[in-house]
Amino acid sequence: MTNPSRVARPKSAAAFERATRSIPGGVNSPARAFGGVGGTPIIVKRADGPYLFDVDGYRYLDFIGSWGPMILGHRHPAVVEATIAAINNGSSYGAPCELETELAEMVVAAIPSVEMVRFVSSGTEATMSAIRLARGFTGRDLIVKFAGCYHGHVDSLLVSAGSSALTLGVPNSPGVPKGCTQDTLILQYNDVQELADFFAAKGGQIAGVILEPVVGNMGLIPPSAEFRKELRRLTHHHGSVLIYDEVMTGFRLSYGGAQELFGDTPDVTALGKIIGGGYPVGAYGGRADILKKVMPAGPVFQAGTLSGNPVAMAAGIATLRELKQNPPYQRLDQLTQQIATGITAAAKQYGHAHQLQRIGSMWTLFFANAPVTNYQTAVASDKQKFARFFWEMMDRGVYLPCSQFEAAFTCAAMTDEHLQETITAASDSLRAMAQV
Ligand SMILES: *Cc1c(COP(=O)(O)O)cnc(C)c1O
Repeated sequence: MTNPSRVARPKSAAAFERATRSIPGGVNSPARAFGGVGGTPIIVKRADGPYLFDVDGYRYLDFIGSWGPMILGHRHPAVVEATIAAINNGSSYGAPCELETELAEMVVAAIPSVEMVRFVSSGTEATMSAIRLARGFTGRDLIVKFAGCYHGHVDSLLVSAGSSALTLGVPNSPGVPKGCTQDTLILQYNDVQELADFFAAKGGQIAGVILEPVVGNMGLIPPSAEFRKELRRLTHHHGSVLIYDEVMTGFRLSYGGAQELFGDTPDVTALGKIIGGGYPVGAYGGRADILKKVMPAGPVFQAGTLSGNPVAMAAGIATLRELKQNPPYQRLDQLTQQIATGITAAAKQYGHAHQLQRIGSMWTLFFANAPVTNYQTAVASDKQKFARFFWEMMDRGVYLPCSQFEAAFTCAAMTDEHLQETITAASDSLRAMAQV
């Protein structure tokens, strides 16, 4: 296969080749493998502020930010300092420490719908535990998810996104038995009628509905106001638990997440990414009467050797404190809007059908003719064109998510200069693409 990049990165190529001999596919998470854009990944040597540096010595403006956590940029001084201080007190206790309560109190204060919170070690664990809790709390089995939403690699949530409304879920990974997904039902995001029909038929059997309140995992897709309103009304009416998966949007779209931005009140919220400040942390929280069902307060089992790890808690506390004291949200929104405006203008100028979708610091350039509102419209976008755009940007030192179906993130370490750099790179990339 020809290398889609015009820049030679021999050290990255060699390091990746070496990795493939001992790690399946050379990566510890498949999104990193550049499967959606071709070629091989850069191997990172270090990161600083808004930049990543690869082993060949190239510098990239980083719009992935570890897929969400690094909203403050890399090695923010307050986070580094808090983390080192924690390490000096020991790395893990397997016994309670005050840092856990401190972060829990910060999360409870930040998100009004979260009255209590339990820490785990990843977003996957958070959503897995949240749906177990919804089932334990309601005594029901059915879970509703939406096609194209990603909630981590939980067996019961790894369901073929192609499945339609009332069909039983079909696993889309070998190794997930049908039994694990037969109680997961797939609906279309933003489809209010389908949702209403489904609740009319099965409402009394639905334990919970889980969704990304703003989707990042099929590219950036906003929810319609009506969709959010109907979700709340129907779940409330039928006694189902409404679960907002804010692993990506929590502390990202605002300090209180997507739910603060919209004024929504879910029953349970899954968190991850930013609350760990770059360390492995997830959390699920919500109404106290529901969270009190979690063991040992209640009967629903959930545990973790490294849950509430003091080093990770310290990084999370430092990150949240910084976000609270110096809220970057307004500036991130303006900065990202300017980037969006600049890229849109270039895409128009060079005649590329496109949709630039954005909320706050999350954005996606879809090569598509019509607004992307759900799974079907997302997969209809021009993935080949996106791959070309990705490599044009890489070769100009801008690191975007390596898939059309992932949101890009602007971070607080970015300045007007970085914004200009990005728009120039995008404009040059889109011009180059128009010439072939
Ligand atoms: C990243 C993500 C997850 C999974 O989190 P991990 O820490 O990767 O397990 C779950 N839900 C959403 C919305 C995510 O973006």
